Amino acid sequence: MTVIIVGGGASGLMAALTAAPASPVLLLERQSRVGRKLMASGNEGKGCSFAEEHPERYHGVDPAFCAAALNRFGVDDTLAFFAGLGLVSCSEPDGRVYPFSDTANSVVDVLRLAAGEKGVDIRTGCEVTEVRRTGEGFVLRSGDAEYTGHKLIVACGGAAGARLGGGVSGYRLLESLGHRRGPILPALTQIKTDSRFTRPLKGVRAKAALTLVRGERELGHSDGEVQFTDFGVSGPAAFDLSRAAATEKGDLTLALDLLPALSRQELQARLGERKASFPQLPTEHLLTGALHNRLALVLLKQAGLSLASPLSALTEKQLAAVCGLVKDWRLPVLGVLGFDAAQVTAGGVLTRDFHPETLESRITPGLYACGEVLDIDGDCGGFNLQWAWSSGHIAGAAAAGLL
Ligand SMILES: Cc1cc2nc3c(=O)[nH]c(=O)nc-3n(C[C@H](O)[C@H](O)[C@H](O)COP(=O)(O)OP(=O)(O)OC[C@H]3O[C@@H](n4cnc5c(N)ncnc54)[C@H](O)[C@@H]3O)c2cc1C
Repeated sequence: MTVIIVGGGASGLMAALTAAPASPVLLLERQSRVGRKLMASGNEGKGCSFAEEHPERYHGVDPAFCAAALNRFGVDDTLAFFAGLGLVSCSEPDGRVYPFSDTANSVVDVLRLAAGEKGVDIRTGCEVTEVRRTGEGFVLRSGDAEYTGHKLIVACGGAAGARLGGGVSGYRLLESLGHRRGPILPALTQIKTDSRFTRPLKGVRAKAALTLVRGERELGHSDGEVQFTDFGVSGPAAFDLSRAAATEKGDLTLALDLLPALSRQELQARLGERKASFPQLPTEHLLTGALHNRLALVLLKQAGLSLASPLSALTEKQLAAVCGLVKDWRLPVLGVLGFDAAQVTAGGVLTRDFHPETLESRITPGLYACGEVLDIDGDCGGFNLQWAWSSGHIAGAAAAGLL
């Protein structure tokens, strides 16, 4: 029973290594090498991370769909699987796990080598453009070549990260086999804000508490690192709100608390002490030691203060205005960056047409789908790769008759 897998990313490689050697496996990848997106994953490409299997950190029309796969093959199983392939990993204080080598190449390498050892037939530079159901199984077309298999796993990923292989062909292949797709949107991407405020801060990082609001209504909250860019706000904390920033209607605002460790009263008291202790210091140094210098200057200018005048000249009202900006800096939201910049696709092929325990199609028996092509996306922090590993494992095991 040959299993054909379309897509050599995280979920496709996991499916291949689970199905083989119980079944002969043919894996077709359109790029010149497998695992390209995987190589860019993790904290600035230092390697992929693994997250706890919290179903509540996943989204889609039916996020509960992912629970069966995450329960059957969770983080511990994934770590044991990779340890078995020779990957040495280590945990960071934030709970994330990375390859000890600090490079995602290690992850792709151990997957690739294991695939060779298990006899997985990997064909790169092979884009599947058409698929037909036959009595025996499936016929796939790529250029002039045709490939046949008894079971088919579509692991083509989503539209995010086009330069790394993202695209819509997985959706099209599944649609041609009777499946339906919901709307797709870029997620885990930069939030575009009024760039007058953020452009001078390009490259500055800060730890902040972010709240997305419409008027006074809170639509989402996240804590963590932000990075300011030409367009607005990037970094994990911004990524986590980007889904809501893309989907919520109306005038949205991003409210940043740039010193979450201090209450407004505590901050106001500290600024008062600073004024008393250093009366001759120019106002440009009011926030020195508390915030990144460039960030401090932007806020002090926005508060309308004269940067050269001494701290002793500041009034309580002016100190309160600075506190207000530090604790509740409001940036009007203009949208989010598109699929090219996004880490993941929100939306995708509807999960209701698949069995959650096996990821087999309810419409076309013998067809399976896994990873980002399905309408499941996770928060920032390893959840998307965990879905790829868990769902790839289930699809591979089910297609090979191992479940
Ligand atoms: C820059 C970046 C950083 C990221 N960082 C993280 C992170 O730190 N943690 C995390 O959890 N997630 C992260 N992600 C998301 C994560 O990488 C993806 O969710 C995950 O790789 C999806 O796995 P997949 O197998 O579904 O798809 P992919 O890994 O995208 O693999 C799909 C493969 O299918 C191939 N393909 C597509 N169509 C065809 C076709 N018609 N014929 C043949 N081959 C085809 C593609 O070329 C690709 O290689 C990041 C993503 C990006 C872009």
